[in-house]
Amino acid sequence: MDGAECVDCVVIGAGVVGLAVARALALAGREVMVLESASAIGTGISSRNSEVIHAGIYYPSGSLKARLCVQGKAMLYAYCAERGIGHRRCGKLIVATAPAQQHRLAALVEQAKANGVDDLRWLTAEQARALEPQLHCHAAILSPSTGIVDSHALMLSLQGDLENASGLVALNTPVVSMVWTPSATLLIAQDGTRLSARSVVNAAGLSSPALALRCQGLDAAHVPRTAWAKGSYFTLTGRAPFSHLIYPVPQAAGLGVHLTLDLGGQARFGPDVQWVDSADDLQVDPARAPGFYADIRSYWPALPDGALQSGYAGMRPKIHGPDEPVRDFLIQGPADHGLAGLVNLFGIESPGLTSALAIGEHVRAMLAAH
Ligand SMILES: Cc1cc2nc3c(=O)[nH]c(=O)nc-3n(C[C@H](O)[C@H](O)[C@H](O)COP(=O)(O)OP(=O)(O)OC[C@H]3O[C@@H](n4cnc5c(N)ncnc54)[C@H](O)[C@@H]3O)c2cc1C
Repeated sequence: MDGAECVDCVVIGAGVVGLAVARALALAGREVMVLESASAIGTGISSRNSEVIHAGIYYPSGSLKARLCVQGKAMLYAYCAERGIGHRRCGKLIVATAPAQQHRLAALVEQAKANGVDDLRWLTAEQARALEPQLHCHAAILSPSTGIVDSHALMLSLQGDLENASGLVALNTPVVSMVWTPSATLLIAQDGTRLSARSVVNAAGLSSPALALRCQGLDAAHVPRTAWAKGSYFTLTGRAPFSHLIYPVPQAAGLGVHLTLDLGGQARFGPDVQWVDSADDLQVDPARAPGFYADIRSYWPALPDGALQSGYAGMRPKIHGPDEPVRDFLIQGPADHGLAGLVNLFGIESPGLTSALAIGEHVRAMLAAH
């Protein structure tokens, strides 16, 4: 097209989702090129998250989040075991810190079952304290299939698989616009390079709606609104007295300030939810610390004064506003927008890391006919 070099598939964005999609396409025998604006893979949303392998408990039955999380979790554990990628099935406790919250735990057990997660165990306060002596709660549920993963090792492995299947990642290559035609989509990079591809997957994370709006031929009505919900973390000085991840019952706008561990045993708390005007607003405001102390002490009363330090912040790629219902992953293919060969991924917030391998398969199947 237009004298531009032509490839079979282009994936825009080398985060965990773009890399998983590219790998799935390459393993299916397709020629794949990933175009990444940054100078390294995995520096976007994928570098600022909790690295939790989610079980699939919270999401509405039948949603993409529920289906792809449960499927992706199984694929991820198998892949990590096969490739020696650091991970641990440490389990998590969701705790009722007041008697009135116990019915919310019961509802989570039912929701999980509806999603195919049938290994949750109800714990009395005594049973929970036998597992975690410093924990305060009235009851808890144990999710044995929740775990943690080294997300950077995962992304390197996905890139390795892609390259072994003759795919490649082009760094420092921001795509600025696209022109769709029935035979191929023309991609224009910031330095003026033009490339045409039979199939294009927009996995640009926080930028994917803005990029879709710069795709000539795509009706803007298909592009969702964009909003940013920052999540700040505070880290714990010293070792945590917990071996499971600890979550309160979910809040209106998120999972509540929870405790996660990394593979080195370092504990962090968060992410909270703060709606902001810019995706670049990634400073942690120390003034949020008192709110963290109060939330954490509801389940860990012995948290010492001065134990929290500002950590890092991540940005959720929201496609709904603060007062609107939470939206599902929006994975739009030809059946949705009518443009052959084009897939847009919008709103891939948590559990996107857990779901990445399943999203890869889902997108590969959407493009199988093209
Ligand atoms: C605070 C927080 C905590 C989370 N915790 C978890 C968790 O514990 N477990 C879990 O399962 N999920 C979690 N998630 C969700 C998970 O991190 C994301 O779903 C996932 O990382 C999204 O990956 P991605 O590849 O879509 O996006 P990204 O990692 O952002 O990748 C997109 C890439 O596209 C590139 N790009 C952007 N524009 C262009 C362009 N025009 N041209 C070329 N390249 C471009 C970017 O540089 C970037 O590298 C969390 C998310 C947040 C924000």
